[in-house]
Amino acid sequence: MVNTMNVDNLLKEIKKKKIKVNESNIKKAFEFAKIAHGDQKRISGEPYFIHPYKATLTLIQKMNPDEKAIIACLLHDVIDDTPFTKEDIKQEFGEEVTFLVNGVTKLGKIKYRGVERQIENLKKMFLAMAEDIRVILIKLADRHHNMQTLNYLPKEKQYRIALETLEIYASLANRLGIGQIKGELEDLAFPYVYPKEYKWLIKNVQEKYHEREQYLKRIKPIIEKELKRANINFIEVQIRAKFHYSLYKKLLRYNKNINEVHDLAAMRIIVNTIEECYATLGLIHKFWTPLPGKIKDYIALPKPNGYQSLHTTVFCVDGKITEFQIRTLEMHEQAEYGIAAQWFYDEKGKPKSGAFIPKKLRWVQQLIDWQKNLKNNTDFLENLKIEFFKDRIFVFTPKGDVIDLPEGAVPIDFAYQIHSEIGNHCLAAKINNKMAKLDTILKNGDIVEIITQKNKSPSPSWLNFVKTNYAKNKIKSYLEKTGKIKKTNIKILKIELKIKLKDRVGLLKDIFQIFAKEKINIESISTDHSEKGYPLVTINFSLKEKSVLDKLIKNLNKVKGMKEINQRIL
Ligand code: MN
Repeated sequence: MVNTMNVDNLLKEIKKKKIKVNESNIKKAFEFAKIAHGDQKRISGEPYFIHPYKATLTLIQKMNPDEKAIIACLLHDVIDDTPFTKEDIKQEFGEEVTFLVNGVTKLGKIKYRGVERQIENLKKMFLAMAEDIRVILIKLADRHHNMQTLNYLPKEKQYRIALETLEIYASLANRLGIGQIKGELEDLAFPYVYPKEYKWLIKNVQEKYHEREQYLKRIKPIIEKELKRANINFIEVQIRAKFHYSLYKKLLRYNKNINEVHDLAAMRIIVNTIEECYATLGLIHKFWTPLPGKIKDYIALPKPNGYQSLHTTVFCVDGKITEFQIRTLEMHEQAEYGIAAQWFYDEKGKPKSGAFIPKKLRWVQQLIDWQKNLKNNTDFLENLKIEFFKDRIFVFTPKGDVIDLPEGAVPIDFAYQIHSEIGNHCLAAKINNKMAKLDTILKNGDIVEIITQKNKSPSPSWLNFVKTNYAKNKIKSYLEKTGKIKKTNIKILKIELKIKLKDRVGLLKDIFQIFAKEKINIESISTDHSEKGYPLVTINFSLKEKSVLDKLIKNLNKVKGMKEINQRIL
């Protein structure tokens, strides 16, 4: 094993993936990490350096990193586990690498608490705290190797780490569209989290799977011959086995009847152009009858995470039901690497701005373009105050619970978020164990402790610096109740609009312009896909008069491609 830890192996893989690097920088990082970890050992008894080495290999092979990310991955455990410091890394490798290594080190400090409701929060926090997608990619590679040596850890730890991998890391990879890593992480965790189910699956699937594979191997040359004959210049015909965990989840939907699942192993055809995708589909249907309802055009209608391909299931050679996936190389890379696919990096190899919020990739791209166009129009953006992802921060209670707040929030916002009584009797705050003023602006990752006193009550001055409407309203109602301020009669209407419409470039811009014209601040916005494949936009805002709402809806109805608007007064 030790002999395989060779920098030339890394460089060979880097070349294979056509990643541009300065080889001497990679060699330097390799040597530095090796020396830094010295004769430290893993619990498995292997030299410690095997861990960053293997993680880096995975990063290169499966996630399309740039040079800085490769170096940072080699160094990712140096700050925590060796005598070398952040300053040493800065001196040797510069700011950017240090930023990445430090980001990975910080993420390592987040402890997972098995509380269900926190999972979603944690995922968001990972994304927000990372600030740079490369930190997450390194973290995924790190976890990928740790999962491979999980058997050396005590039983309870195995379960906890595997569960965390399944619920947080794999779903994070999925959300980023990195299909390959998602599938591998799930399969590594599966036997530890669901041992009985795993054994059942292996026992019942193995034979069937083997049979399938033999069959696909037999028909592969037939398909290649027909493609050539039709002058379709394909890149590759692959045999794809389904991942164990995703197969298990699928089987649960079919009452565990293995004969109902046709994509145990599928045929995948990779071609050069979209035209060739459809030509290939036509060719397959010419020879073999498709199963009704199984043709899926994810090229025209991509999945929400950006996945594109044509799928069809046919009665193939000897009448055996077989699934085909057809895609271009670009779509293939998008499906395997997701956000890490090449097009997400600019020429310098840095992630493009906004690259780490791929909720719905097409929409994100549209938003980035739109923001670019409006760069000089800061008033317009200011006025809209769109609370997108990057405007949120995540802070902790001393127990490690995560509280999600808008940027600019202060300890009083935090206090009211925990409980209105804590807010009403808030006396002082500690931030990261130091006493802090109540108007201190909180930062991502701060640990906040609120000190209360029974006879303390809200002060009108708090209204000048609290950020959240929630805290503002609670303070106002307390002050009104105790007669400290006069009751105001203006009732604020909280409104939610659900807008269903046809996707096109410039859509969000048109909608936002209508809001801006009426001088309405959007409080939050999210996009989703409705059942019929139309984008569904949910917008929340507040108004003082109902008449403004009627005017707004009238104008929104004029937007090109508008299908339906549903209003709700909350
Ligand atoms: Mn590590």
